[in-house]
Amino acid sequence: MTDPKPAKRVHIKTYGCQMNVYDTERMLETLRPLGYESCDSQDDADFVILNTCHIREKASEKVYSELGRLRVLREEKAQDGKPLMLAVAGCVAQAEGEEILNRAPQVDMVFGPQTYHRLPEFLAKAERDGGSQQIDVDFPIEDKFDVLPRDRDVGGVTAFLTIQEGCDKFCTFCVVPYTRGAEQSRPAAAILEEARLLASKGVREITLLGQNVNAYHGEGPDGREWGLARLARALADVDGIDRIRYTTSHPRDMDRDLIDAHGEVPALMPFLHLPVQSGSDRILAAMNRRHDTDLFRRIVGELREARPDIALSSDFIVGFPGETDLEFAETLKLVTEIGFASSFSFRYSPRPGTPAATLADPVPDAVQSERLSALQQLLEAQQEAFNRSCVDRTMPVLMEKPGRKPGQLVGRSPYLQPVHIDGGSELIGQIVNCRIDALRSYSLFGQISDSPSEERNCA
Ligand code: SF4
Repeated sequence: MTDPKPAKRVHIKTYGCQMNVYDTERMLETLRPLGYESCDSQDDADFVILNTCHIREKASEKVYSELGRLRVLREEKAQDGKPLMLAVAGCVAQAEGEEILNRAPQVDMVFGPQTYHRLPEFLAKAERDGGSQQIDVDFPIEDKFDVLPRDRDVGGVTAFLTIQEGCDKFCTFCVVPYTRGAEQSRPAAAILEEARLLASKGVREITLLGQNVNAYHGEGPDGREWGLARLARALADVDGIDRIRYTTSHPRDMDRDLIDAHGEVPALMPFLHLPVQSGSDRILAAMNRRHDTDLFRRIVGELREARPDIALSSDFIVGFPGETDLEFAETLKLVTEIGFASSFSFRYSPRPGTPAATLADPVPDAVQSERLSALQQLLEAQQEAFNRSCVDRTMPVLMEKPGRKPGQLVGRSPYLQPVHIDGGSELIGQIVNCRIDALRSYSLFGQISDSPSEERNCA
């Protein structure tokens, strides 16, 4: 009897957002039937894929320096008779395309977020044609979701589920419309099928993903167009799915239906990431955000009316070209007025190819840093206050995995805070009421409680 053929090992390094995490999972699911298993180290791999992100500053330069390190590894492995295949995927691949093959001849294949379902074809061609480089950064006619394996390979009780891709908003600072293309929504039936499959594998919480997730407008099983509210209501009826989140939203697409759903669908978690970016209407217009601060305030008010315990997080860019001290002060004022449970804030830096990259009047580095520090101080104080307000309360926690200490479990509150309790592994996958005793750093510590949860009071 001959030994079974040893598995080939793939290492995927994922940069950036949750959509890339989802894409990485789907790439692994595509590669598994071809005999690949995932490995944690590039040194052990036969195939390394960099699943890249173009959002951060100098994103492509970081990819090129990683490729430099991989060239050395590839040469070392070649000397040992172990070929290493290299691929660049994701948004840098989409944006840079051919340039990657020119600058990094060690790369075997370059493919974008819309073509990774063609991995089996790329690999077959690589095997057939030897060393020739391949590139595929098309926006193909076929829908990758129709081609990707139906089965999902989830190992936990939470999962991402992409429902929408691309963006038509064209904020002047953002590369997404160029790298991910126009808005496209998956049909609701396909999303419901994927959710049922995830539930059958023990998933209890799904996070619906999209670059502009609440712009979702997929075809419903009834042939009509469904918005996100309708989809969330249908997903809440899927047996086993108890919690639904969605990210990233645009204020402009928070319609009345969706706001009402927050008050009517208990599975929709009372924690929403809603980027506002700036508190200045002039800067919002320069960013082409298509909303002003009044609209943002109105939406937040309506959300809080519909679901009084809802907590918000947001994104902020400070030091956009031309931002004055007074305009920055308006951002601090808005933050103070709204109150956020957590947030992400960044200094503006130009992304090549975006309209804002050509704007005059850059804000000096020192001023940007000063403003970022002031904003982050305020946001951190708000986060600390929010987390502290959860102490001495009882809240439902979805237990996810063992903690670092023996006998400890870690779960997530409705507000995505990590919650540590003492308990056995039989609780993993259960939603248990926990009395919160303490806050340490950004984590809550508590114990199982018989008292009913006071979810609606923690804010
Ligand atoms: S809405 Fe979001 S993804 Fe779309 S262009 Fe603006 S920042 Fe980028």
